[in-house]
Amino acid sequence: MPNMQEYADIVGQSIVDDLRLIAERLKGKVIQHVNSTSVGGGVAEILNRMLPLLRELGVDTRWDLIKGGEQFFNVTKKFHNLLHGRNDEITQKDFDIFMETAQRNIEEVNTFGDIVFIHDLQPIALVKKKKDNKWIWRCHIDVSNPNQRIWKFLMDFILQYDSAVFSAPSFSQRLSIRQFLISPSIDPLSDKNKELPSETIEKVLEKYEIIKDKPIITQISRFDRLKDPIGVIEAYQQVKRYVDCQLILAGGTASDDPEGLEVLAEVRERAKKDKDIHILLLPQNDIEVNALQRASTVIIQKSLKEGFGLTVAEALWKAKPVVASNVGGIPLQVKHKFSGLLCHSVEGAAFAIKQLLNTPAYAQKLGENGKEHIRNNFLITRHIRDYIILFLSLYHKKDVVYL
Ligand code: UDP
Repeated sequence: MPNMQEYADIVGQSIVDDLRLIAERLKGKVIQHVNSTSVGGGVAEILNRMLPLLRELGVDTRWDLIKGGEQFFNVTKKFHNLLHGRNDEITQKDFDIFMETAQRNIEEVNTFGDIVFIHDLQPIALVKKKKDNKWIWRCHIDVSNPNQRIWKFLMDFILQYDSAVFSAPSFSQRLSIRQFLISPSIDPLSDKNKELPSETIEKVLEKYEIIKDKPIITQISRFDRLKDPIGVIEAYQQVKRYVDCQLILAGGTASDDPEGLEVLAEVRERAKKDKDIHILLLPQNDIEVNALQRASTVIIQKSLKEGFGLTVAEALWKAKPVVASNVGGIPLQVKHKFSGLLCHSVEGAAFAIKQLLNTPAYAQKLGENGKEHIRNNFLITRHIRDYIILFLSLYHKKDVVYL
């Protein structure tokens, strides 16, 4: 694990000095994060990187998980999709299953932190244990247009928190508690994002039998319908009529996402006849993800909904030209025609990919701009600063805090 000082070369010494200064103010406070999985997906990715750095800064930070069975995660996945605006049917039984597991966790999880930091909806009900400590609800998903029945159900819990945190301005909601806008971040020194020797990249390509002499279009994502893997294949097929290229759809599954294998099977079925489509079920291996992103000519993120889209930041940090949907937190990262190209449809994605493959100098410029945009806004040092200020704000009564 890199130490704080190593970040100074990337973001500047003064940023690291400021972090040390403000972290001092949290001495004696215990910050306890709670979520539902330690691997897979963006939340786990961020906590794994951020916690050691906060500890190095002297902030006493812990991380606990709630427990849940298959039925519970099926229901939370359904709620998650509904919050994203999908129209699945919900029944009283779903709420009962949710509350049954929530109740067990309320009994079993020790919420000892001075600040208890709850991530997403799976552990949201733990707030019933709130005593005189401070509680934050951190929403990582796109709730710009949530299903109202689920949102109302969650509101009963949300309003018991001291503060709520959203990733993008369009997700903020009418709430009587304080809200913060804090976007996620990537760690430039992690295995996922650090520079790699070209031999490492080549070895990974060899392992997955991907050739180097055709442009590579890649989407790295869990196999989830909201990541629209089928739409990616359709866009690739439209591009392929004009430019000979390959497609990589690579992803693992997360332990709190029960739909992954089903979606993977659908994607395999759709890609079956084309040898230039590589569907990779990745083990949890950050170097491989890094290598695949670096080996790509264009990175696509064709999500239908997206909380933030760490994969976009990861690609831009590698100075890759990106085509991504104009949803959720993506437009914070991809400024159209400056740090990538935004799209709204399969056709739009195909058009943008073609444009990038045909104009490499333009593609390169977008990638370079993207890298600087990420450096200035979406690296872990900015994120740590925002969180420390958020924690400190809980002990100050003023109504409005601008980060
Ligand atoms: N990821 C990974 N392996 C995979 C698929 C995804 O390591 O097979 C990582 C990806 O690189 C990113 C995170 O998981 O860091 C996904 O975060 P994102 O915000 O893009 O989407 P989420 O999965 O949280 O919806």
